[in-house]
Amino acid sequence: CGIVGIVGHHPVSDRLIDALKRLEYRGYDSAGVATIDGGALHRRRCEGKLHNLEAKLKEQPLAGTIGIAHTRWATHGAPTERNAHPHFSDGIAVVHNGIIENFAELKDELTVAGAEFQTDTDTEVIAHLVARLRRDGMSRREAMHAMLKRVRGAYSLALLFEEDPSTIMAARNGPPLAIGHGSGEMFLGSDAIALAPLTNEITYLIDGDWAVINKTGVRIFDIDGEVTTRPRQISLVTA
Ligand code: GLU
Repeated sequence: CGIVGIVGHHPVSDRLIDALKRLEYRGYDSAGVATIDGGALHRRRCEGKLHNLEAKLKEQPLAGTIGIAHTRWATHGAPTERNAHPHFSDGIAVVHNGIIENFAELKDELTVAGAEFQTDTDTEVIAHLVARLRRDGMSRREAMHAMLKRVRGAYSLALLFEEDPSTIMAARNGPPLAIGHGSGEMFLGSDAIALAPLTNEITYLIDGDWAVINKTGVRIFDIDGEVTTRPRQISLVTA
């Protein structure tokens, strides 16, 4: 159970897998990665260990200079490729660590509204909910904030939007999430260990925070949607 993300100007796929390897100590049963390339989301997912995902990426590489990746410790739905993150809905990709407690209620509501669920996970409601809020006319930021007000539970999250290949959105309410500052690139990880080869300049989100990250920096918002700032620290973790 780990999350990583990179938004930058160099290819991200290999670096995302390297960062996931640094989170292997947490345990996991499956893994996946998504990037945006040529204006479209692409993903590769695998059951089992990261070398399975690496083998798949060798056969079918993923280009792109923005991406998110995940190691999953299944809580809802079997540890299969189909249930591995990232989950997609209508040009939105999501990775999640934790549990969405009210997923059943949200799934019913979204299904009635026409969403077609592809997995047995609690996580997939997030992708469909944000997609629906976008179709209802909200901006990406408004939809992210409204989604966070609807979901209950413990989560760290990262989202990609196909229509905006320069931004990762992230949120924390429970499991830790660290934002890494690079030069002309920004990083996201479950902890500073994941990011150590990439940067040692870290900003930790606190519970209730969410963030809009692009290659030049991050804007952090609190649960009320107000802009906030969190300290930028030098991590002592070494690669
Ligand atoms: N509850 C989610 C799932 O079962 C996320 C699990 C995790 O933290 O990796 O897919």
